[in-house]
Amino acid sequence: MSVQEPAVHESDDPAAVTGAEIAVQNPATGEIIAHVPDLDAAVITAMATVGRAAQPGWNALGFEGRGRILLRMQKWLTDNAELVIRTVMSETGKTYEDAQLADWSYGLNAFGFWARNAPDYLADERVRSAQVMLKGKRLVLRYKPLGLIGVIGPWNYPLTNSFGDAIPALAAGNAVILKPSEVTPLTSQVLLEGLRECGMPEGVFQVATGRGPAGAALVDVVDMIMFTGSTETGKRVMARAAQTLTPVSLELGGKDPLIVMADADLDRAASHAVFYSMFNGGQTCISVERVYVEEPVYDEFVAKVMANMKAVRNEISTGPGTSEVGSMTFASQVDVVERHVQDAKAKGAQVLVGGERGHEGQGGHWHQPTVLVDVDHTMQCMTEETFGPLLPIMKVADTEEAIRLANDSPYGLAASVFSRDLARGEAVARRIEAGAVCVNDALVNYLALELPMGGAKASGMGTRHGAGGIRKYCQQQSLLISRVHMKHEVHMFPYRRSVTKALGRAFKLMNGRRRPVP
Ligand code: NAD
Repeated sequence: MSVQEPAVHESDDPAAVTGAEIAVQNPATGEIIAHVPDLDAAVITAMATVGRAAQPGWNALGFEGRGRILLRMQKWLTDNAELVIRTVMSETGKTYEDAQLADWSYGLNAFGFWARNAPDYLADERVRSAQVMLKGKRLVLRYKPLGLIGVIGPWNYPLTNSFGDAIPALAAGNAVILKPSEVTPLTSQVLLEGLRECGMPEGVFQVATGRGPAGAALVDVVDMIMFTGSTETGKRVMARAAQTLTPVSLELGGKDPLIVMADADLDRAASHAVFYSMFNGGQTCISVERVYVEEPVYDEFVAKVMANMKAVRNEISTGPGTSEVGSMTFASQVDVVERHVQDAKAKGAQVLVGGERGHEGQGGHWHQPTVLVDVDHTMQCMTEETFGPLLPIMKVADTEEAIRLANDSPYGLAASVFSRDLARGEAVARRIEAGAVCVNDALVNYLALELPMGGAKASGMGTRHGAGGIRKYCQQQSLLISRVHMKHEVHMFPYRRSVTKALGRAFKLMNGRRRPVP
């Protein structure tokens, strides 16, 4: 396909061009609600050409011009809240509140945040050098957009984990091609329409629907790839990007621990353990996936968890206040949860709540919200990412054991520590091998777009949010402007013995003599 032809992704029926389609399901009911094109490598390559052609004009708008469109989009999201929330719900099966709290409201915040903060984060930086040879020269670090950014998203947060990364890339002056998960492509299409209404120039932001091969093809044609998804796919993305030396930023899986110390506020710890393990059906990369409780307060903590679980309805959400936990989004994720529960039961765990697939015979993909006790690290539920409504609680002898077990994981995304002694809580937090740790809280660090968020160990590479969350979409360009200088510098040809000796003395003087050696 040539780019002069009508762009495939903009046609009413792009699938007619490639022939391939993806059926999009409402996972709460099993009903097919839409079809989207499964784009192939040729179309992705053509989209890259369109994006590259549009990028210089977008960059030329400057922070102010780009910010205006992003701020209009923030307003658009306010005006179209129901459309967006209902679209997210329809393709994920999540509850109204989950879609509102963690998708829609995040997008609302992010469009405004990056529009307002990009100019400061990417402002030229004046650098001062102690190097005497550089006196009289102006040193500047600037951030120049890389050009075309590929964003590949997962299915659990079709707005937050796709647009959350696309927005700063756009604010920096890049064109973006977003490949949403094939499971949840509809939210991206709705927001693409919104951006068009807000005046986003054609080709600057494109949505490439497709499966894994479309994502792989995208890696080949962009200047940088921002990937969010499983650790296994992240490794494949990185290997592929190595072929073209394309930089990658990877936000991957997790197995986040929550530690309850003996002096913790148990009411708060229990409500946080329940809410943040069940929120979004447990399908959050930074969900609470395992809990360690110090022995003296274990029984009381478990009782409080059980009391909290009584309020949890696991129904199809029809609107505000109708269900706490929705369906699972991805069919095979139900199998993972079931496998982890069965494995734990076979090894001696007790099921206190749930434990079975849910809504059997009614369509959709459901697993009951489940609490397990008597668990240990021989069980998959404590060592592998479950990514479902499962809360395994383990008794530990003391804080040292909790820290050791929390760190006994290939993952290191996030963690939580509960203690009334803030100094002890923070000391424990600093020993956890994770990219983000909350004390007496969980997950809400993600709301601070000023605070970097990224995984340690197998949970990722690079960060989102904060200065690093936008600078990664830029080439750091160093400028040296020589203002005051001689016609002929002393260190240049011809080399002369007297000058060489004088320079030697000068280097020693500058770099050694004045500073005592520790
Ligand atoms: P996934 O890895 O299966 O898919 C993610 C995306 O990669 C999809 O768009 C998919 O089509 C695409 N893809 C598949 N094969 C590809 C390939 N070879 N090359 C390029 N792209 C390819 O992940 P998922 O199941 O959609 O999402 C769930 C996972 O995402 C969980 O592990 C979760 O922890 C993780 N996640 C991490 C974060 C984070 O910020 N760290 C956030 C959300 C989700």
